[in-house]
Amino acid sequence: MKQLLILGAGTSGTMMANHLVKKLPKKEWAVSIVDQYKTHYYQPGFLFLPFDIYNEDQVKKEGKKFIPKGVNYIQKKIEKILPDDNKVELEDETLSYDVLIIATGSKIAPQETEGLLGPLWKKDIFDFYTYEGALALRNKLRTWEGGKLVVHVTEMPIKCPVAPLEFAFLADSYFRDKGIRDKVDITYVTPLSGAFTKPTCTKALNYLLEEKNIKIEPDFAIMEVDNEQKQIIDYAEKAIPFDLLVTVPTNMGDALIERSGMGDDLNFVPTNKHTLQSKAHKNVFVIGDATNVPASKAGSVAHFEAETLADNIVLFTKGYKLKEEFDGHANCFIETGANKALLIDFNYDQEPVHGTFPFAKVGPLKLLKESVFNHWGKLAFRWIYWNMLLKGIPIPFVGRNMSFKGKIFDIKSD
Ligand SMILES: Cc1cc2nc3c(=O)[nH]c(=O)nc-3n(C[C@H](O)[C@H](O)[C@H](O)COP(=O)(O)OP(=O)(O)OC[C@H]3O[C@@H](n4cnc5c(N)ncnc54)[C@H](O)[C@@H]3O)c2cc1C
Repeated sequence: MKQLLILGAGTSGTMMANHLVKKLPKKEWAVSIVDQYKTHYYQPGFLFLPFDIYNEDQVKKEGKKFIPKGVNYIQKKIEKILPDDNKVELEDETLSYDVLIIATGSKIAPQETEGLLGPLWKKDIFDFYTYEGALALRNKLRTWEGGKLVVHVTEMPIKCPVAPLEFAFLADSYFRDKGIRDKVDITYVTPLSGAFTKPTCTKALNYLLEEKNIKIEPDFAIMEVDNEQKQIIDYAEKAIPFDLLVTVPTNMGDALIERSGMGDDLNFVPTNKHTLQSKAHKNVFVIGDATNVPASKAGSVAHFEAETLADNIVLFTKGYKLKEEFDGHANCFIETGANKALLIDFNYDQEPVHGTFPFAKVGPLKLLKESVFNHWGKLAFRWIYWNMLLKGIPIPFVGRNMSFKGKIFDIKSD
């Protein structure tokens, strides 16, 4: 039997297991998947935990439930990949592979910023990119009486680049509902020159920031967190004071990638952006947050990547040329508070534009415009995630590559 080995049973690894168990001949290929943890988290739900919109049970399930029959599930820590020997070292055994898929994701690295893990960490400084961080922040917000709230992004790339903005919008709504919005001063601090990585979208978002009285501090390259004075300081020595700092620390690929000598400075694996084959090793493929491709690090992107990658793995096993197909397609809801959301749809080359999605004229979802229907779409994503996305079931009417139907290109999208 030939061995196909998947590293990581998060969003991408689980989807690949589900796709490949159906696509590879069972008599020739054995499929195995390795992950260190028992629990699979619905990470988009971490945004809602701090505001008591979701509870713990809505964002976690046992990971094994989503691994299909016929796939060997190994719950162990991965120590090292030896790509020249086609082997992977786990904590107490070594596995061999013919084809390897790296799906080990990315995680926060607060230790990369001086002072971030100082005495105020989890007292007045929080993250919401981890399950524990989101819950600690929820407990803090339940009793916080107001002051300077700074929502901060350390550096790009981060997973779900819109999540910190959504956090700022939801915070505005949350404090309004609590009747203390006048006691909370919200500032959004970003290393980018505007609210988002895509200029047309930034314009739409700037308008919302203004409307909700959220100040923006762009071009802020953080140098350190001063725990004594309660301020963040950048390399230009600009200081921003806070009472409560909600930060998205540097995001990095797992240390395993560094130990294996396979990553860039942030432990992301150099990957062909259209085929998802590793640039260094032909029988190694990379998907999701673990890659260095210039697409958003998002579950929706991993879902589109998985469809192309599943086809490419089959082509590779037959010795055929790979499809250079993945176009960077991303499809993201942006919660804007008060039960509304925006939707953006874009790829490597095409910025988000106005229009309707997925159908021309009828929508029902609106692009780059706030609507209640978009908010329902965001909430429905959780059901879609557990019931369709992880199982590799195609989402009706949403193709793997970006469709230009329903999009308005002939007027300026601002
Ligand atoms: C707050 C927040 C909001 C988000 N909102 C959205 C959203 O609205 N829409 C959207 O599409 N996406 C969103 N995302 C992003 C989305 O969750 C990720 O892009 C997606 O989960 C990436 O999938 P992945 O499989 O690449 O990584 P993951 O799902 O993180 O999986 C990686 C897996 O690898 C395992 N692993 C890593 N290293 C090792 C090791 N050494 N040994 C063993 N196992 C290992 C981990 O345990 C983990 O299970 C959000 C993320 C966050 C944090």
